[in-house]
Amino acid sequence: MSAAELDCQLCGACCCSDSPGHVPLSGEDHARLTPSEQRALTEFRGTRCFMRMRRGRCVNLELHEGRFACAIYPRRPQVCRDYERGGPACDLDRERFMERARMPHSFVLPEQPELGFGEG
Ligand code: SF4
Ligand code: SF4
Repeated sequence: MSAAELDCQLCGACCCSDSPGHVPLSGEDHARLTPSEQRALTEFRGTRCFMRMRRGRCVNLELHEGRFACAIYPRRPQVCRDYERGGPACDLDRERFMERARMPHSFVLPEQPELGFGEG
């Protein structure tokens, strides 16, 4: 499927994973977050920093009226900025996401915002 045919707000696949290391942060990524976001949203594993994952999805992934959104979109990590819609990783993530959605009880949709951040 071409990038033009893909609607990220109806997808969210690349923000979902069972891996705790799915969204790594650089020092610059971490510094872009507010202190309260740093405490609530990130975790260190050794010297590496990652976005927290909760129930198979990045803690920042929200669902509003059927559309996915990133709660920290203006301050999202570089790895998310560089991710290519319609690229090979996008194809794989969407395939994996669809496979997972077919398994009962294996996927929990994001809840409403838990931390009450503004638009950024
Ligand atoms: S997997 Fe691709 S289409 Fe889905 S949200 Fe990510 S970039 Fe967009
Ligand atoms: S920080 Fe935002 S764009 Fe990046 S994985 Fe989490 S929800 Fe998706």
